[in-house]
Amino acid sequence: MKYNRLGRAGLKVSELSFGAWITFGPQLDLAATKRTMRLAFDRGVNFFDNAEAYGGGEAERLMGAALKDFKRSDVVVSTKIYWGGKGPNDKGLNYKHLVEGTYAALERLDLDYVDLLYCHRPDDDTPIEETVRAMDFLLRSGSAFYWGTSEWSAEQIEGAHRAAKELGAAPPTMEQPEYNLFNRDKIEREFAPLYERYRMGTTTWSPLASGILSGKYDQGIPKGSRLDRVEWLREYLTPDKVAKTKKLAVVARELECTTAQLAIAWCLKNPNVSSVILGASNEKQLEENLGAAAVRDRLSDDVRKSIEALCA
Ligand code: NDP
Repeated sequence: MKYNRLGRAGLKVSELSFGAWITFGPQLDLAATKRTMRLAFDRGVNFFDNAEAYGGGEAERLMGAALKDFKRSDVVVSTKIYWGGKGPNDKGLNYKHLVEGTYAALERLDLDYVDLLYCHRPDDDTPIEETVRAMDFLLRSGSAFYWGTSEWSAEQIEGAHRAAKELGAAPPTMEQPEYNLFNRDKIEREFAPLYERYRMGTTTWSPLASGILSGKYDQGIPKGSRLDRVEWLREYLTPDKVAKTKKLAVVARELECTTAQLAIAWCLKNPNVSSVILGASNEKQLEENLGAAAVRDRLSDDVRKSIEALCA
């Protein structure tokens, strides 16, 4: 496993990491959470991703309980604040919710601090200066070490840097965007100027586009799969994506890996990706997906270009 600096930060994150969205709780109970986190850690993963919104806080409780078996300094833990509840001040990036939401997340995780704290979405209802001041406060008071954004535009990230400079506050260090063979634009084009200008780090999500890139939906929606369980995600399963995934499977066979491993290894080839956050609903999937690190070196530039052409 390779460890990358998170952008300009000195912090090192494993190139593959493990996240809790949708899986921790409904699919992985405490025993399974412990087993999967241990498996990931034993294979070199040091970064575990979470959010206050995941399972209404249950994902943080489970991760916090599993973290009892680890030395705190061995792991990098994140959470994300935005969707904290139904009240008028339980949502968004206003000062009050950022601070209260972070304190509540730390309580659920049973941690004194998270390493990475994200603003889970942009918030047009809050002045950027207010959000930057709140994140700066949380860093200075020791609740988090680095702050970042998730699914912000390049323009919004630039705005945060400008505000931080004016206020003498800590700027964002990392962004968490979606990145997979079906969604490349933000990481590859929109964010391109930010890597040089700010040495922005990235922790990317949904490397398999919710499992579609594993090929599991090639013959329809299997019972118990994510798209079977989560109705709103089904709109992302299009005939075009299934056709592309089938073509990828041919390349995967030639490289003697699975389609999922090929899709994840492709994400790892991008030098602007600090860590690819894996999702898995069982140990078998996680084991397979962790194998992508070994597949990365089989992806020559020619192979990379050919699979990009297949998925264009
Ligand atoms: P993926 O795109 O890799 O999807 C993971 C899901 O695909 C699994 O839960 C499983 O679902 C299926 N799957 C995974 N591996 C395999 C395999 N080898 N064979 C067959 N099926 C497989 O990642 P996620 O969408 O889960 O995202 C990863 C993490 O990124 C999240 O946990 C979260 O931490 C983060 N994230 C962040 C977001 C943000 O807004 N910042 C948004 C979304 C995710 P099943 O078995 O149920 O079909």
